Amino acid sequence: MNREFLYDLLSTGSVSGNEAAIEKKIYDHMQDKADQVMVDELGNVTAALNPSSPFKVLLAGHADEIGLMVTAVDSDGYLMVTNLGGIYTTTYPGHKVRIYTKDGTIYGAVANSREIAKNSELKASDLRIDIGAKDREDALAHVELGDTVSFDTDVRELLNDCITGRALDDRIGAFIVMEALAEARRKGATVGCYSVTTTGEETTGNGAFFTASRVKPNIAIAVDVTYTSDNCGISNALTGDIAVGKGPVICNNPSIHKKLNAILRDCASKLGMAVQTEAANGRTGTDGDTMHLTGIGVPFALVSIPLRYMHNPCEVGSLKDIQDCIDLLSEFFASCTEDMDLKPF
Ligand SMILES: [Zn+2]
Repeated sequence: MNREFLYDLLSTGSVSGNEAAIEKKIYDHMQDKADQVMVDELGNVTAALNPSSPFKVLLAGHADEIGLMVTAVDSDGYLMVTNLGGIYTTTYPGHKVRIYTKDGTIYGAVANSREIAKNSELKASDLRIDIGAKDREDALAHVELGDTVSFDTDVRELLNDCITGRALDDRIGAFIVMEALAEARRKGATVGCYSVTTTGEETTGNGAFFTASRVKPNIAIAVDVTYTSDNCGISNALTGDIAVGKGPVICNNPSIHKKLNAILRDCASKLGMAVQTEAANGRTGTDGDTMHLTGIGVPFALVSIPLRYMHNPCEVGSLKDIQDCIDLLSEFFASCTEDMDLKPF
């Protein structure tokens, strides 16, 4: 596994709607690993193998992360914000943040006090970011309304192949889909293999819509993170019995294609790999839902990486699970054939 590339992605700001920096790194990285590497107007990067094949398989991992966006500046120069995606507002006060401006990154401290700490109903609009500005005019000389904000933290290695960082959701998925494509080339995949690192999953789903509408895949697989039941405060009645380090998670849900799940399980058993199963009702809340409803409709599956503390600045995942997902999905690419029949009977 190319840890250097993974950690580089995990150290790059990519708050939803502001993904160009991370997408450019992926675009450059994939140049010698695919037959074609494309970028569209939103910044979605799609790498392809065998682009002349009429049968197309699309893997999607989203490159964007949750965060904040500057909405206003008060007369004292404190930044006011709204949320981009499903943040835990109470995790922000007392922490350092990065503000991604057109002139580069500047830093801020999120105001905290005993009063703020007592407010369990804290909203994003209650947060104030101190950038050291003298007043509103001074702040606006450095920051524009619409600039995005993330925690000022990157990735750290823990024991037993675990890593912690902000927004492993879903930059580890973005890493996996591109590594799986590179590996599928080595395994001699014959169908059209496409991997996209999508924009906007946490807010609008526009990246998956643009990509699937244009690639027109026969099959799509969303690669994202999922909740686990191996940490305190989480019920397995909600999440199923899912644990970090126990392998990729295959999702059963009314819209997910049963035959695709069966093929994924066959690939795992061929590799001697353990997989986990989650059951979910309704929509998956991933790019899979979006890709499914493009064009004439696209059968899809969801492969997830187990993740503790999702949407917190200290998400925890496992390098072993990441490698297993790469192996599973490259095997899936290589096992697809142009005459695959996905009808249930
Ligand atoms: Zn996600």
